[in-house]
Amino acid sequence: MGSDFQFSVLGSGSKGNAILIKAGNDTVLLDPGLSTKQLELRMRAVDCEPSDIKHICITHEHSDHVQGLKVFGKRYPSKIYITHNNYRWCLSKNEEVYKAAGFQSKFCIIEPKQTFKVGELKITAFRVNHDAVEPVVYRFDYKGKSFGVLTDLGEFSSELLTAFAQVDALILETNYDDDLLTSDTKRPFALKQRIASAYGHLSNSEAAKVLSTIIKHNQGRLENLILAHLSSDCNTPDLAREAVSHILQKAPQEIKCQVASPITPIDWINV
Ligand SMILES: [Zn+2]
Ligand SMILES: [Zn+2]
Repeated sequence: MGSDFQFSVLGSGSKGNAILIKAGNDTVLLDPGLSTKQLELRMRAVDCEPSDIKHICITHEHSDHVQGLKVFGKRYPSKIYITHNNYRWCLSKNEEVYKAAGFQSKFCIIEPKQTFKVGELKITAFRVNHDAVEPVVYRFDYKGKSFGVLTDLGEFSSELLTAFAQVDALILETNYDDDLLTSDTKRPFALKQRIASAYGHLSNSEAAKVLSTIIKHNQGRLENLILAHLSSDCNTPDLAREAVSHILQKAPQEIKCQVASPITPIDWINV
């Protein structure tokens, strides 16, 4: 049975992130974090025409989340929802582009915790700790169903638990395996510390704790879990799955779990 509230992951990882959310006749792009060419290709791979995108939500300014913004936003005029400081940062880097007449997308400044609507889809951003100027994560609510995306955060807070406890579908960051990060020889020590800090990313074991906490408060609602934003050097899909498997086994309901790929889109999933 088709549903009118669905999501698709076009790509996820440190090289690029983009998620589509479809609610009724509206399709929202969460982070144009791939090249415009890749965004177009992968949207078409899941039967979405790029010109159908009229709304783009931005989490933060890291290139794996905004690298397609300039070109995609110019080619497909949209409303771009973004926090104030994030907007100022983007503007400081690309002022002439965004002020050019050809760039017809419009920036809409959003406030964390203040819900805004795209059609019947309710969208709320929540502040997170991450080493960016004003990073947020988003929850999408439509006709009583709830979908949350939790990536690029160094730690989980009670405020986030309140916001994400009642989700029916969740994208959760499993960025790195602790042992692989510690033994990694490519990254300097300071960078490893940053990744593991409260302003970095969630590890597999931290994600497992977050998942366990959410399930405890979720009253059996969660049906679909996507593990996402895996480090290509310091994690593997098997390690990420293994880290949450005992939590999923203990859950009162059956939860379908997939791992998002940096390259291959995950086709539409009903929320
Ligand atoms: Zn990222
Ligand atoms: Zn980031």
